[in-house]
Amino acid sequence: MSTYNAAIMDKAIELMNRSTNANRRVGAVITNGVGAHNAHMTERESRITVQHAEAQAICRSAAEGIPTKGHDIYVTLSLCVDCAKLIVQSGIAAVYFDKYDPEQPEGLKLLHLGGVEVYGKAPPQDDLPR
Ligand SMILES: [Zn+2]
Repeated sequence: MSTYNAAIMDKAIELMNRSTNANRRVGAVITNGVGAHNAHMTERESRITVQHAEAQAICRSAAEGIPTKGHDIYVTLSLCVDCAKLIVQSGIAAVYFDKYDPEQPEGLKLLHLGGVEVYGKAPPQDDLPR
C-alpha cells in the first residue's frame, strides 16, 4: 500500500502554479521523479492543443525511458477519463489527488475499474463499480 508524501504534492502544486494555461492549471508528479504541468503543444492555444499534466508526465517518462510501473502519481486535480486510461495502461499503482473536479467523475471510476488505488477527497459515488 502506498503512503502519502506531502512533499511530492507540494511539488505538484508548484508545477501547477507554473502552468500558463488560461482555462485551468494542473500539476502532476510521478514518484519516478518526472513532473509536469498542463501545457499547450503549439503556439496556438485552444482546447485541442492542451496536453494534461498527467499525460505529459507519463509521455515524458516514456520518452526518457523512465519506468512508470509500480509508481504513484500526485495530481492537483482529479483526472479526466483519458488520463485515467493512460494511468491504468502505464502500470501506475496509485493516484493521489488534491482537489476533486466534479466535471470529471468518470476518471476516478475508471481508475477503480483498472485496479489503481485512489486517494483524495471525493463525494460519495454510490454508482461506483466495485
Ligand atoms: Zn486529463
